[in-house]
Amino acid sequence: MTRALFIVDLQNDFTERGALGVAGGDEVALRVSQFLSQHAEDYAMIVASRDWHDPDNDNGGHFSATPDFVDTWPPHCVAGTYGAEYDELFDTSAVTHHLKKGQGLPAYSLFEGHADDGATAAQLLDAHGIIDIDVAGIATDYCVRASALDALAAGRRVRVLTDLIAGVHPDSSARALDEIQRAGAELVLSQR
Ligand SMILES: [Zn+2]
Repeated sequence: MTRALFIVDLQNDFTERGALGVAGGDEVALRVSQFLSQHAEDYAMIVASRDWHDPDNDNGGHFSATPDFVDTWPPHCVAGTYGAEYDELFDTSAVTHHLKKGQGLPAYSLFEGHADDGATAAQLLDAHGIIDIDVAGIATDYCVRASALDALAAGRRVRVLTDLIAGVHPDSSARALDEIQRAGAELVLSQR
Protein backbone atom coordinates (compact mmCIF):
# COMPACT_ATOMS: atom_id res chain seq x y z
CA MET A 1 0.00 0.00 0.00
CA THR A 2 1.70 3.14 -1.20
CA ARG A 3 -1.13 5.67 -1.11
CA ALA A 4 -1.35 8.62 1.30
CA LEU A 5 -4.23 10.95 2.07
CA PHE A 6 -3.56 14.63 2.71
CA ILE A 7 -6.19 16.50 4.72
CA VAL A 8 -5.35 20.18 4.42
CA ASP A 9 -6.24 22.76 7.10
CA LEU A 10 -9.60 21.40 8.23
CA GLN A 11 -9.67 23.90 11.11
CA ASN A 12 -12.34 25.87 12.96
CA ASP A 13 -11.19 29.22 11.53
CA PHE A 14 -11.63 27.96 7.94
CA THR A 15 -15.15 26.58 8.39
CA GLU A 16 -18.45 28.36 8.99
CA ARG A 17 -18.30 30.89 11.87
CA GLY A 18 -14.50 30.86 11.79
CA ALA A 19 -12.31 33.97 11.35
CA LEU A 20 -11.81 33.04 7.68
CA GLY A 21 -14.65 30.60 7.15
CA VAL A 22 -15.32 29.31 3.64
CA ALA A 23 -18.78 28.29 2.44
CA GLY A 24 -19.18 24.53 2.67
CA GLY A 25 -16.36 24.04 5.16
CA ASP A 26 -18.46 22.26 7.77
CA GLU A 27 -19.86 19.98 5.08
CA VAL A 28 -16.33 19.07 4.01
CA ALA A 29 -15.39 18.28 7.62
CA LEU A 30 -18.42 15.99 7.93
CA ARG A 31 -17.77 14.28 4.62
CA VAL A 32 -14.07 13.76 5.38
CA SER A 33 -15.01 12.14 8.70
CA GLN A 34 -17.50 9.86 6.95
CA PHE A 35 -14.93 9.05 4.25
CA LEU A 36 -12.32 8.14 6.87
CA SER A 37 -14.76 5.87 8.69
CA GLN A 38 -15.03 3.83 5.48
CA HIS A 39 -11.64 4.24 3.80
CA ALA A 40 -8.91 4.87 6.38
CA GLU A 41 -7.53 1.38 5.72
CA ASP A 42 -6.97 2.27 2.06
CA TYR A 43 -4.10 4.56 3.05
CA ALA A 44 -0.58 3.86 4.28
CA MET A 45 -0.49 7.33 5.83
CA ILE A 46 -3.12 9.95 6.61
CA VAL A 47 -1.45 13.34 6.98
CA ALA A 48 -3.35 16.35 8.35
CA SER A 49 -1.98 19.89 8.30
CA ARG A 50 -2.84 22.90 10.42
CA ASP A 51 -2.14 26.55 9.74
CA TRP A 52 -0.48 27.60 13.00
CA HIS A 53 0.38 31.29 13.15
CA ASP A 54 2.22 33.39 15.72
CA PRO A 55 0.00 35.48 18.03
CA ASP A 56 2.33 38.47 18.39
CA ASN A 57 3.26 39.48 14.82
CA ASP A 58 1.74 39.74 11.33
CA ASN A 59 3.33 36.45 10.24
CA GLY A 60 5.43 37.92 7.46
CA GLY A 61 2.69 40.22 6.20
CA HIS A 62 0.14 37.35 6.04
CA PHE A 63 -2.19 39.06 8.55
CA SER A 64 -3.67 42.48 7.81
CA ALA A 65 -6.27 44.80 9.35
CA THR A 66 -7.28 45.62 5.75
CA PRO A 67 -6.95 42.24 4.03
CA ASP A 68 -7.33 41.77 0.27
CA PHE A 69 -8.28 38.07 0.66
CA VAL A 70 -5.68 37.16 -1.96
CA ASP A 71 -2.31 37.85 -0.37
CA THR A 72 -3.37 39.23 3.01
CA TRP A 73 -5.94 37.87 5.44
CA PRO A 74 -7.66 38.68 8.70
CA PRO A 75 -5.89 37.08 11.67
CA HIS A 76 -6.67 33.34 11.70
CA CYS A 77 -5.40 30.05 13.09
CA VAL A 78 -3.36 31.61 15.87
CA ALA A 79 -1.40 28.85 17.63
CA GLY A 80 -3.14 27.46 20.66
CA THR A 81 -6.53 29.09 20.01
CA TYR A 82 -9.86 27.41 19.24
CA GLY A 83 -9.69 28.66 15.66
CA ALA A 84 -6.44 26.79 15.06
CA GLU A 85 -7.81 23.47 16.31
CA TYR A 86 -9.18 20.91 13.89
CA ASP A 87 -12.80 21.51 13.00
CA GLU A 88 -15.17 20.07 15.58
CA LEU A 89 -16.82 17.94 12.89
CA PHE A 90 -13.51 16.43 11.75
CA ASP A 91 -12.87 13.07 13.44
CA THR A 92 -9.07 12.92 13.52
CA SER A 93 -8.79 9.45 15.08
CA ALA A 94 -7.48 7.92 11.82
CA VAL A 95 -4.89 10.64 11.20
CA THR A 96 -1.39 9.16 11.41
CA HIS A 97 0.72 12.32 11.04
CA HIS A 98 0.00 15.89 12.14
CA LEU A 99 1.88 18.81 10.55
CA LYS A 100 1.87 22.49 11.56
CA LYS A 101 2.81 25.31 9.20
CA GLY A 102 2.86 29.10 9.09
CA GLN A 103 4.68 29.90 12.32
CA GLY A 104 5.68 33.52 11.63
CA LEU A 105 5.22 33.37 7.86
CA PRO A 106 2.67 32.64 5.12
CA ALA A 107 2.63 28.90 4.38
CA TYR A 108 -0.01 27.59 2.01
CA SER A 109 1.37 24.15 1.20
CA LEU A 110 1.27 21.14 3.50
CA PHE A 111 4.86 20.57 2.33
CA GLU A 112 5.90 23.66 4.32
CA GLY A 113 4.74 22.01 7.54
CA HIS A 114 6.58 20.00 10.18
CA ALA A 115 5.52 17.32 12.61
CA ASP A 116 6.27 18.00 16.25
CA ASP A 117 9.43 15.87 15.88
CA GLY A 118 10.56 18.08 12.97
CA ALA A 119 9.74 15.69 10.12
CA THR A 120 8.57 17.25 6.85
CA ALA A 121 5.97 15.86 4.46
CA ALA A 122 8.67 15.07 1.91
CA GLN A 123 10.62 13.04 4.48
CA LEU A 124 7.51 11.15 5.59
CA LEU A 125 6.53 10.32 1.99
CA ASP A 126 10.00 8.98 1.26
CA ALA A 127 10.16 7.01 4.51
CA HIS A 128 6.84 5.30 3.77
CA GLY A 129 7.48 4.73 0.05
CA ILE A 130 4.42 6.73 -0.94
CA ILE A 131 3.72 6.87 -4.69
CA ASP A 132 0.10 8.06 -4.79
CA ILE A 133 -1.48 10.94 -2.88
CA ASP A 134 -5.13 11.89 -2.53
CA VAL A 135 -5.80 15.47 -1.43
CA ALA A 136 -8.79 16.84 0.51
CA GLY A 137 -9.42 19.91 2.67
CA ILE A 138 -9.53 23.70 2.59
CA ALA A 139 -9.11 25.96 0.70
CA THR A 140 -9.25 24.73 -2.87
CA ASP A 141 -7.78 27.94 -4.29
CA TYR A 142 -4.97 28.32 -1.74
CA CYS A 143 -3.69 25.54 0.50
CA VAL A 144 -5.22 22.60 -1.39
CA ARG A 145 -3.86 24.05 -4.64
CA ALA A 146 -0.36 24.59 -3.22
CA SER A 147 -0.27 21.16 -1.57
CA ALA A 148 -1.41 19.33 -4.72
CA LEU A 149 1.07 21.18 -6.95
CA ASP A 150 3.91 20.45 -4.50
CA ALA A 151 2.94 16.77 -4.39
CA LEU A 152 3.16 16.65 -8.19
CA ALA A 153 6.49 18.49 -8.07
CA ALA A 154 7.68 15.85 -5.60
CA GLY A 155 7.07 13.23 -8.29
CA ARG A 156 3.91 11.70 -6.88
CA ARG A 157 0.71 10.69 -8.64
CA VAL A 158 -1.99 13.00 -7.30
CA ARG A 159 -5.77 12.90 -7.15
CA VAL A 160 -7.88 15.72 -5.74
CA LEU A 161 -11.08 14.45 -4.11
CA THR A 162 -13.40 17.11 -5.45
CA ASP A 163 -16.30 16.40 -3.09
CA LEU A 164 -13.97 16.78 -0.10
CA ILE A 165 -12.71 20.32 -0.76
CA ALA A 166 -14.07 23.86 -0.35
CA GLY A 167 -12.67 27.15 -1.66
CA VAL A 168 -12.56 30.85 -0.78
CA HIS A 169 -13.74 32.18 -4.16
CA PRO A 170 -15.69 30.14 -6.77
CA ASP A 171 -13.75 31.61 -9.72
CA SER A 172 -10.28 31.14 -8.31
CA SER A 173 -11.25 27.65 -7.08
CA ALA A 174 -12.27 26.66 -10.60
CA ARG A 175 -9.02 28.11 -11.97
CA ALA A 176 -7.02 26.27 -9.30
CA LEU A 177 -8.60 22.92 -10.17
CA ASP A 178 -7.91 23.54 -13.85
CA GLU A 179 -4.28 24.40 -13.05
CA ILE A 180 -3.86 21.32 -10.84
CA GLN A 181 -5.33 19.10 -13.55
CA ARG A 182 -3.10 20.61 -16.25
CA ALA A 183 -0.11 19.99 -13.98
CA GLY A 184 -0.97 16.29 -14.04
CA ALA A 185 -3.39 15.55 -11.23
CA GLU A 186 -6.67 13.67 -11.57
CA LEU A 187 -9.88 15.21 -10.28
CA VAL A 188 -12.10 12.49 -8.83
CA LEU A 189 -15.01 12.02 -6.48
CA SER A 190 -14.27 10.25 -3.20
CA GLN A 191 -17.34 8.03 -3.59
CA ARG A 192 -17.56 6.32 -6.94
ZN1 LIG B 1 -2.63 31.44 7.25
